[in-house]
Amino acid sequence: MRTIKYIVLHCTAGPQNQKIEDILSYWKNSLGWKNPGYHYILRPDGIAVNLFPIDKVANGVAGFNKEAIHISYIGGIDKKGQPIDNRTPEQKATQIELITKFKKIFPNAVVLGHRDFSTDQNGNGIIEKWEWIKSCPSFDVRSWMEAINYEKFARPSGIVYKLNYPLIKDSKVLEIQKALNRNGAKVTEDKIFGKETHEALLAFQKAKGLVPDGVAGPKTAKALNITL
Ligand SMILES: [Zn+2]
Repeated sequence: MRTIKYIVLHCTAGPQNQKIEDILSYWKNSLGWKNPGYHYILRPDGIAVNLFPIDKVANGVAGFNKEAIHISYIGGIDKKGQPIDNRTPEQKATQIELITKFKKIFPNAVVLGHRDFSTDQNGNGIIEKWEWIKSCPSFDVRSWMEAINYEKFARPSGIVYKLNYPLIKDSKVLEIQKALNRNGAKVTEDKIFGKETHEALLAFQKAKGLVPDGVAGPKTAKALNITL
């Protein structure tokens, strides 16, 4: 099995009654691709059609395919061809199901939208709207996963508290933040393991002679006098 770093969400950028056979034929005959663009296509009824084994390299994002699994929902544009998040509840449920399944196999894989691979042209670390190469998958994956609190209900066992994507947000992070503040840090106690908490944790680890890896693992938790 290859190493998977990215679980990439796409839309087919077609109508919701788009036929999978037409997509396959477009790749093969119009683009001349040997391999499909996605591993999975999610029908509006939520059925995940597996087009390609996940250990094979698909064609979803040029330059990143070797380490990526591609999951696409049918839809993503309105009648005028403009981007729209028209995922059905069933498609959203299947996205969560597949993300959870693959995160169990590849815990370090990050979940991104196709457009998040656009170049950060002004170097501010955020891919802004004007920098998106294309709008696929027609929604912001990060905001969606935060909104549904994905990390809280679907994080695989063996929780690792660190600067993660999407950001980890739960009451345990608040405990970490409070413990850091008891040890002289001044982080906002907002339950979100963001950059500020990450930096405070690194400083704490350095001060205590621990490995400064930014991960609140067992040793760091012990030094902070908390249980994870
Ligand atoms: Zn795409």
